Amino acid sequence: MDSPTIQPIPRYLQQSHERIFENNRKWVASKREADPAFFEKLSAGQTPEYLYIGCSDSRVPANEIMGLDAGEVFVHRNIANLVPNTDLNVMSVINYAVRHLHVKHIVVCGHYNCGGVKAALTPADMGILNPWLRNIRDVYRLHEKELDGIEDKDAKYNRLIELNTIESCRNIMKTAAVQQSYQKNQYPIVHGWVFDLHDGLLKDLKFDFEETLEGIMKIYQLE
Ligand SMILES: [Zn+2]
Repeated sequence: MDSPTIQPIPRYLQQSHERIFENNRKWVASKREADPAFFEKLSAGQTPEYLYIGCSDSRVPANEIMGLDAGEVFVHRNIANLVPNTDLNVMSVINYAVRHLHVKHIVVCGHYNCGGVKAALTPADMGILNPWLRNIRDVYRLHEKELDGIEDKDAKYNRLIELNTIESCRNIMKTAAVQQSYQKNQYPIVHGWVFDLHDGLLKDLKFDFEETLEGIMKIYQLE
């Protein structure tokens, strides 16, 4: 069988990325200037207080919006900040962050204008994305009454973004790692936030961790 002819990389893509490497060298210099032992500490290990689960959207840079430095937050991002119960990737991240890093807080951070949530509201075949986005449609179904009662399209979209964030918080609390750690240590605490691209502000959805835990334990308790 003939192998397909591979086209050469187009000239406009043959760049050196020197800008990025230059940025990196500047970053190293500024870190060293502020704290000569910065990289020594960084290489010694990590003890982040937070696990952040957010959307992959390029406009929502986790460390930057929280003003946290390298080493201060363990990060997982995926399309629409989902925590599907059978997703090995996010489940591994939660397990490692809770059982080994002993994070004190887990933040799920959604964001308004989320393309993933918008796609889930659109009746289109998205191929491999279908089962992923179906998780968001399940959130819609769980809150159908409330969402159908919202006339304004944008308001409905925004509310689904908030509810989807809260549902991810709930899914985190169904895990054995979180339940067992909380029984033993009274942490981690789970928080639901939403980032607003219009003004850059984080909104706390005031997710009631204690009350939710009670409801979760009734059905999902794992000893
Ligand atoms: Zn998004």
